[in-house]
Amino acid sequence: MKKIILTGDRPTGRLHLGHYVGSLRQRVELQNSGAYDDIYIMIADAQALTDNADNPEKIRENILEVALDYLSVGIDPDKASIFIQSQIQALTELSFYYMNLVTVARLQRNPTVKSEIEMRGFASDIPVGFFTYPISQAADITAFKATAVPVGEDQEPMIEQAREIVRKFNYIYGDVLIEPEIVLSDNKVCKRLPGTDGKAKMSKSLGNGIYLADDPKTVKEKVMSMFTDPDHIRIEDPGKIEGNTVFTYLDAFSKNEDFEEFLPDYSCLDELKEHYKRGGLGDVKIKKFLVNVLERELGPIRERRAIYEKDIPGVYEILKEGTRKAKETADATLKEVKEAMKINYFDDSALISSQTEKYGG
Ligand code: ATP
Ligand code: MG
Repeated sequence: MKKIILTGDRPTGRLHLGHYVGSLRQRVELQNSGAYDDIYIMIADAQALTDNADNPEKIRENILEVALDYLSVGIDPDKASIFIQSQIQALTELSFYYMNLVTVARLQRNPTVKSEIEMRGFASDIPVGFFTYPISQAADITAFKATAVPVGEDQEPMIEQAREIVRKFNYIYGDVLIEPEIVLSDNKVCKRLPGTDGKAKMSKSLGNGIYLADDPKTVKEKVMSMFTDPDHIRIEDPGKIEGNTVFTYLDAFSKNEDFEEFLPDYSCLDELKEHYKRGGLGDVKIKKFLVNVLERELGPIRERRAIYEKDIPGVYEILKEGTRKAKETADATLKEVKEAMKINYFDDSALISSQTEKYGG
């Protein structure tokens, strides 16, 4: 069986550190591992419109921002097809047929949809498209026969929903679709990076993110005003690590080499944590260290972004080519799906001859 990756992001804003550690970093590693036959990376504009229908301009603008973020973290258009969801009609068509395989009760049980509904304050005024987006996500994944989907932990219920649809479809219509596997970061905090405000998830919609395109001054300001331990008032006070966002980010980003380079008094993160817990270590010192650690990662990303920003028509060409390739694959799957469902009337010569026979022809 071919090894295929499908993953993507909503163009509702620029991408941030949560996306980076939750998904982008793995994508680049998997891409460079050479272990995959095909890699598709989707800018999910149609999905973004499900809760932004009144703001199409925002989505249109952010398509380019997300594309620039992909290229700047090292997604290579020669190895991965970056495409725009709305341009692939097969995805909408697949969603329509999958809708018959999922109940309203099942969608209502989806914990991610539940919490997103709550976050957006939707009641029965929820757009139907938003409510059903797990189905459209199953269409996106299965259209490419994806075997691996590298995403953050919040997407787990979506992958489970996709797997259920695959099983049901294959049971009714025959084996056509492939069950995808989720690929999560093996670093616990990276599966769901909290926001700079300490809230459970860094999210574009919550405005609590450090963006890949933020300049060094902005990154520094955001880190310096970050949430730590509210009871750690004087330097000599013992501090808490749990729920202390600066330490969570160090868990996600720092490497032992960073200590050698930026904070040689300590050899590793555990030592720094121990000192903080004992007392005598100020927040400013660990925050300055975090700024250095983040800059080590963000510096090269920013430099690559600056190169691509000088050639925006070239970036649109990359999207056009990726979309062309993705369309070919999705169209082929849709053809198989329609054959399996026997809704390919005009290509089905057996149907025409049996009907002809029925009428004595
Ligand atoms: P929105 O608020 O518009 O939903 P978002 O910030 O949640 O935006 P998405 O485009 O929904 O971003 O998510 C894209 C990918 O990034 C998904 O795989 C998701 O799991 C992952 N991701 C998003 N935020 C985080 C985070 N804080 N930690 C880890 N992974 C994340
Ligand atoms: Mg989201």
